[in-house]
Amino acid sequence: MAYKFIDNYRERGARKQLVEELKAKGISDSNVLKAIGNVKRHYFFDETFWNQAYQDKAFPIGEGQTISNPYTVAYQSELLHINKGDKILEIGTGCGYQTCVLLELGAKVVTIERQEKLYERTSKMLPYLGYHAEFYLGDGSRGIPEHAPYDKIIVTAGAPFVPEILLRQLKIGGIIVIPVGDEKSQKMTTVLRVSENEFDKIVLDTFRFVPLLGDKAW
Ligand code: SAM
Repeated sequence: MAYKFIDNYRERGARKQLVEELKAKGISDSNVLKAIGNVKRHYFFDETFWNQAYQDKAFPIGEGQTISNPYTVAYQSELLHINKGDKILEIGTGCGYQTCVLLELGAKVVTIERQEKLYERTSKMLPYLGYHAEFYLGDGSRGIPEHAPYDKIIVTAGAPFVPEILLRQLKIGGIIVIPVGDEKSQKMTTVLRVSENEFDKIVLDTFRFVPLLGDKAW
């Protein structure tokens, strides 16, 4: 690995401050805050930018994509109401920061990324850091039916609508968290599968994500 994985007092201190900042912004789930406090976000940055790793900002990760800002990662994680052992499908692996937070929360994670270079990089780096998920390369807008049903599904890119095919891959009682809107902004949306054919949708705050590209997306 070309990266240096060193966690010194500066990074540890910055991570604590980030947790306090997220609390002040309204994140209240102590497990989510603990997970954010445990994941070394600077490992996803080039060393030159470590001083920016614990700012609550999105940051370019190459291939025209971004590492999500910590507030968004915490917000989506909180909405998933993760129980230990939950099987979660993550659509949009990116650099894998959100994947690590889900794993810290005790979930079993199946994650899919459409960009080959990101998939290659992340599927090598996360196990090296001790984070073990199942990594797939492909169009996640169709889900991964072979591994369904899932307790939870998280989409980390902005979708034009909630793909029906994803709802069908949820267990009864399962939840999908997905930003839905146009290319400028999206509303965080959760859908609970109440029964075989009943779904409860809640529309929440506004965010700005990169687009979900694919067969059942843009
Ligand atoms: N989860 C990441 C993190 O922790 O920082 C951020 C993900 S980034 C905001 C969104 C990712 O979704 C990008 O890497 C993009 O390539 C990916 N993506 C977009 N459309 C996709 C699709 N149909 N299937 C899988 N991945 C997709």
